[in-house]
Amino acid sequence: MKKLLLVLSLFLLIYACSKDEENLCADSDLGVNCQGADYVKNSDSPYVLPWETGKTFSIGQGNCTEGSHSLGQLQFAYDINMPIGTNIVAMRSGIVGKVIESFEDLEPGTVGLADEANYITVKHDDGTEAQYVHLTLNGALKNEGDSVIQGEIIALSGNTGYTTGPHLHFQVMQALTECEDTDDRPNYIRYFCNSIPITFKNTSEHCFGLLDSKLMPNGYTAEPY
Ligand SMILES: [Zn+2]
Repeated sequence: MKKLLLVLSLFLLIYACSKDEENLCADSDLGVNCQGADYVKNSDSPYVLPWETGKTFSIGQGNCTEGSHSLGQLQFAYDINMPIGTNIVAMRSGIVGKVIESFEDLEPGTVGLADEANYITVKHDDGTEAQYVHLTLNGALKNEGDSVIQGEIIALSGNTGYTTGPHLHFQVMQALTECEDTDDRPNYIRYFCNSIPITFKNTSEHCFGLLDSKLMPNGYTAEPY
């Protein structure tokens, strides 16, 4: 009898969880600007979260917002709330493209300039490029041209550039072969035509990409993969 109850409660628990997820994914208020975006299922994603296994962080700003991640180059960027000095890992293996790490972290309450952000970029074998931004002073742990493997610690988060507080901003830009790059601002991160929607294989299901802390206050945990 006990066994039966156990099985029954386990079934109910699984049912309740999947129901919740279903409702969240069907919520028409979510991803409203992201309609039609092609988010692959977590299990098929080539990416892992850019933080260490076992750690949990919440999302300050998700995709397709009315803020700095509105339509365009940064549409599919994420802002992760994390203290200065947090280890950042490579979401996917690749070759380090550009490294900028000479800017000082901002004092609390101040906002810096967009072209004074520290960052590291990693080019993937399909031509896409991950860009990890606002790193701390000397916060790049790899050099241009280095190979990095998925999950390897490559940088330390910070509070440099156009930011109002410590966080990691990141996005994956589409392959250059898919568009014509017209962004030639010299000191900025070299954006390609657009960022692309990505999901992560080592955390809970997320239908519209990672949801921000208003919807997912507990954030996302990087699970072993
Ligand atoms: Zn951002």
